[in-house]
Formats: sequence, C-alpha cells, structure tokens
Amino acid sequence: MNTDLCSRIILPYCPSYESARQIFNRSIQKCPSSIIYCRNDDEAARAVCYGARQKQEIRVRSGGHNYEGYCIGNGKMTVDTSPLKGIQLDSTGTLKIGGGVSNRELYHFLKQYGYPFPSGTCPTVNAVGLTQGGGWGHSSRMYGLACDSLVEAELIDASGRLITASEASHPDLFWALRGGGGGNFGVVTSLSYRLTPVVSHVTYVDIEYSRIDDLTALQFFQTWQAWTTGGEIRFTPNSRIFNSARDGMGIFLRGFFYGTPDEAEAAVQPFLDIYGAEVSFRYVTFWEATEIDASIYPASETFQFAGRFAYADFSDSQIISLLSLIKTRARGASYASVALYAMGGKVRAVNPCETAFYYRNSDFIIGIETVWEDCFFEAENQAWMAARFPYLHSLTTGSYINFPYLYTDHYMDAYYGENKERLVEIKKRYDPCNLFRFPQSIRADQLPGLLPE
Ligand SMILES: Cc1cc2nc3c(=O)[nH]c(=O)nc-3n(C[C@H](O)[C@H](O)[C@H](O)COP(=O)(O)OP(=O)(O)OC[C@H]3O[C@@H](n4cnc5c(N)ncnc54)[C@H](O)[C@@H]3O)c2cc1C
Repeated sequence: MNTDLCSRIILPYCPSYESARQIFNRSIQKCPSSIIYCRNDDEAARAVCYGARQKQEIRVRSGGHNYEGYCIGNGKMTVDTSPLKGIQLDSTGTLKIGGGVSNRELYHFLKQYGYPFPSGTCPTVNAVGLTQGGGWGHSSRMYGLACDSLVEAELIDASGRLITASEASHPDLFWALRGGGGGNFGVVTSLSYRLTPVVSHVTYVDIEYSRIDDLTALQFFQTWQAWTTGGEIRFTPNSRIFNSARDGMGIFLRGFFYGTPDEAEAAVQPFLDIYGAEVSFRYVTFWEATEIDASIYPASETFQFAGRFAYADFSDSQIISLLSLIKTRARGASYASVALYAMGGKVRAVNPCETAFYYRNSDFIIGIETVWEDCFFEAENQAWMAARFPYLHSLTTGSYINFPYLYTDHYMDAYYGENKERLVEIKKRYDPCNLFRFPQSIRADQLPGLLPE
C-alpha cells in the first residue's frame, strides 16, 4: 500500500492494529485490510481514490458506535474520520464541526456560549454518524432530530470530489444525508448546524422503580403510551424496563425538561403516580445535563439491540407479551431490556418525505437488547434475540437505521419506508460503482453487490 496516502495508516501487522480495529460494541470483531485516518479533505479524497483504483469496498468510520459494526469489515478498507476535530461557531449562530467530533466534544464547545444542541445521549457517539441516521436525543421533541438542525455537509464522493450539500447545492444529496444513514454516499468531512436559542438551565429528571412486579411494568408501559401522545414537548425521555442480573426487574425513565423543576414535576405526574416511583429533579445547565447522561455509559459494551418504530396503540395483552420477552435472560447475559425513546413534538412537525428520515409520525422507538460480557455466550445471546425479534417486528412499523439489526427482512423498506426509491436514485448518482457498501447499505439492483467477507 502507498503510505504517502495519509498521515496514519494501520495495517494488520502494525502493533496498534488490535486496538485500532475495535469499536464500541465488542461483540463485533472484524479484521479490516487497512484503517486509513484522515486529517483533512485532501487525505479523505486520496483514500477514496486509492480504494476506487484498487476496486476495494470502502467502509467509513468516525466514532465506531454502529451497533452492527458497519463501519468496518473483514478484509475491507476503512476510512476513518475521527482526527477531524475542528469546531467553529460563526457570528450568524451556525456551528461547523469536523467529521470526527463526538457528542461530548460538541456539547463541551457549546458550554461557553450556553447553547443547547439536539444530539444524542452517549458522549462517545460521533455527530456525523448520529446525524446521518436522523439522530434522536433528549431534545428531540423540543428542537427536532439532530438532522433537522443540519444546514450543510461537506462530503468526498466516490470519485474523490469534494461536494458541499445544502438546500441550495446538491439538494438531493442533502436530503439523503438527513436520515439515509451513514456510510452510503461518501466520506462526510464536516457538518454545519443552525443553533437554537441559548438556554440557561434545564431540569434533569430521573425516575426509577426498583424490584418491580408485572403489574408495575404493565402500568408503566400504559402510562408511557398515553404520555407520548399527549405529553409536554419540552421533555423527551427515554426509558428501559430491564431485567438485570444485579438488580432484578426494574425501570428507569430519564431526560431533561426545558423548564423548572416544578414544571417538570407537573409534566411527569402520571409516572409519579405509579407505585414505587423514586424521582430526582436536578436544575442544571444544559452542559451539566449532558454530563449526567454521559456518566451512565461505559467505554464499551458487548451487546445486541434491535430498534423499531411504534405507535401508541398496544393492547394490554400485547404489552404483557412484549414484557415477557425479557422475563428470562440468555445464558451469560447480565442485562436484558425493553428500551423506549419518545418521539413526537418537533420530530413530527416535519413531513416524512421532507428528509430521508421517514418514520416521523411514530409515537416512540422501541428496542430489545441483550448485554453479555464473555464472548463464550455470544451464540446464545444472538439466538435469544433471533427468537424475540419476530414478535417485536410484528407489532411495529419500521426500523431505526441508527439502531440496526442485521437480520431484518427487506431492510430497505424497514429503514426507509416510502423514501426508499428516492434514496436508491441518489445512491446511483453519487456512488455509481457502489464503492461505499456494507451488509445493509442502500442497494440498487444494477449496482455491484457485496463482496464476501
Ligand atoms: C452506547 C450507544 C448510545 C447511542 N445513543 C444514541 C442516541 O441517543 N440517539 C441516536 O440517535 N443514536 C444513538 N446511538 C446510535 C448512534 O447514533 C449510531 O450508531 C451512529 O451512527 C454512530 O455514529 P459513530 O460515528 O459513532 O459510529 P460509526 O460506527 O463510526 O458510524 C456509524 C455509521 O455512519 C457511517 N459513518 C461514520 N463516519 C462517517 C463519515 N465521516 N462519513 C460518512 N459516513 C460515516 C459509518 O459507515 C456507519 O455506517 C447510540 C449508539 C451507542 C453504541
């Protein structure tokens, strides 16, 4: 390989290869042919042109949090944008970030100005991956998805060209980058966002229920359903109904409320009425709220998760069956859960076809997950998920591209709904040789298929 390509290239014989190939989800163990780190547009363009010349299939990585590891593959070349750490705020309130900036770095930069930002909850997820998939967070009902604040993206396409995509320039590509999922169209080197007004404080809400029985779980789910359709848009909670080896069956509900603790208490009253609720309200700056979220996450995890979009119309018997999915954990699993993420508010204010993020009218995202530590139990955990996913699938409408599950039938319909055809056309235009491909990439029949791993 031509090592003048980029400042840092990791090959399988390099001492740092073992650590460089790791991603957040440790159940994914892939061995790429090379990892090419890009410090600027020029290095990204040279890496793409090199891959094209070699007829390689290119994977793109930034924060490495894709659940299924689509940023990396056995024998594939990975273009890594994590060194692109630049952040600038201009006088019009537009924030420009490089393709390697994490949620925490972004929030930390904005701390000095007091701006909130509608990105995700995990500090080490990178904004470029999150935003291309839509980007849910604790501000979504208030300010929309992360992609709804996007005003421009710079991308190196399959021919090595630097493209600026916005409403005015390459509008189709700009449309696709807001919900079409990362890794499909090229290497995004920067993103620019329009910021929302400064906010001095928010209320961090944490409600927990310990050692719950079936009735509490049912009541909680019923309340969640009713709340997501009529609740305050200033609050975008997520929740887990979990079965943990350490703590037994329990529930948490968290998020930040854009208002005072008194207003927050009124907004979440239906959850406080459920027996056993233990609540805390912390009146903190936006930055401090994101740091409370951050403190919950480990540096890495071994898990499988599948996320789907749901409407709040589950009958009691469907809820009971859903909750029964986590009644037993797989052998070796330390944790299993039904995970819930509220939609609605400003997410729904945008038409499903106005950006590539289609399932805007759903009431919430629902996922099931299993977490284990020892790779010895991997097959049993995967079998656990495979046995449960069909029931979740039968009750729900589509899949969230940021929470992908490899074994989803007709994945293009599942991720994109009625936006599928337009995405295929855009893919053909910007990546005619299907250079950027992975097991669930946007696929057109005429384009070359996936090479075996
Ligand atoms: C612990 C955890 C918490 C999460 N919390 C949330 C959440 O609150 N809200 C939410 O919406 N999602 C959440 N996610 C999902 C997360 O948003 C997606 O996995 C996201 O795509 C990760 O981006 P990344 O850059 O960190 O990961 P990567 O795996 O590096 O990239 C993800 C995808 O984007 C592509 N990509 C990466 N960099 C580029 C680039 N420069 N140009 C083009 N394509 C690129 C990759 O090829 C891959 O397909 C979470 C994931 C984890 C593991």
